[in-house]
Amino acid sequence: MSATIAPGATIGILGGGQLGRMTALAAARLGYRAHVFCPEADAPASRVSAATTRGAYEDEGARRRFAKAVDVITYEFENIPAGPVEALAALRPVRPSPAILRICQDRIAEKTALAAAGVATARFAAVRAPRDLDALKPPAILKTARLGYDGKGQALVRTPAEAREAFARFGAVPCVLEAVVDFACEISVIAARGLDGAIASYVAVENRHANHILDETIAPARVAPAILAAAAAIARRIAEALDVVGLIAVEMFVTRDGAVLVNELAPRPHNSGHWTIDACATSQFEQLVRAICGLPLGDPERHSDATMKNLIGDEVEAWTALAAEPGACLHLYGKAQSRPGRKMGHVTRLSPRSDR
Ligand code: AMP
Repeated sequence: MSATIAPGATIGILGGGQLGRMTALAAARLGYRAHVFCPEADAPASRVSAATTRGAYEDEGARRRFAKAVDVITYEFENIPAGPVEALAALRPVRPSPAILRICQDRIAEKTALAAAGVATARFAAVRAPRDLDALKPPAILKTARLGYDGKGQALVRTPAEAREAFARFGAVPCVLEAVVDFACEISVIAARGLDGAIASYVAVENRHANHILDETIAPARVAPAILAAAAAIARRIAEALDVVGLIAVEMFVTRDGAVLVNELAPRPHNSGHWTIDACATSQFEQLVRAICGLPLGDPERHSDATMKNLIGDEVEAWTALAAEPGACLHLYGKAQSRPGRKMGHVTRLSPRSDR
């Protein structure tokens, strides 16, 4: 068992976006320094961190300088090239492990790992060649195995011809073909697992999307208690099966007949967990810091129910009204330019717990 990395130490964060920014803020609250590694200048995370190494992830010299300056390394998005992360892991602990990163970067590997963990997903077929498309009858959803996010690299295919056309359009890269799930709602659970194997998970929340981007999270999800419990058990099972140290966000479908199917995983803080900053004693970001530094996990219990609304693109222009709204918890990411689809901030609104 590795020793505790005590407050005062430096946490290395791969990636400079808002998830890194909120991790750095949580790290600072516990007395840690954050050091960001990212290619961009003036990244949202850099603005609140003690230091930044600016460089390409493939730059070995930059990686060595970064590793020398930090005590533990985590990542804030999963499309960081896995090779450089593995190279870093030879120099400093990387948590969650690069092996988990590799699994979550590839939908085929991810679904295979979920099946091995005994967790249900939509029916699917791995597609590496056109003939593999015959394994699942349309209508279905074709997704590229790698580098898809927010609905990119996805196509609803209604006929075998459409499936072939979409596969060719994606460049015949490896894909998964998934049965269309007739879901009642989409939910997610964020579980933290510590160095000692302890697990703490947040209540399952309900996620509503607009244009394939998370728009609103409702905590807790408006589902039966048995479904909340099933979702928590699934997240725990995955955290244990993957031997996670850090966070694992598990996105799930609740079907109309009450089954819970896992859609995808993210081994990092997740947009659907931003509400925890304002509604829980320990936020997802602080929980990540605690897990990777070997501290006891914090209490994930919420003191309030919450809704979190993302401020996407020009929605952020409402900031003056939101800043004046009583009780609204406004978070802005300090991004200079708003673009359509770009996450600029979020606002969380609390209400008394409905179950008390
Ligand atoms: P993903 O990138 O896998 O998270 O998918 C983005 C969104 O597409 C999900 O949040 C769902 O709204 C929808 N979606 C993805 N897979 C399926 C599926 N198998 N059946 C129905 N809807 C899906």
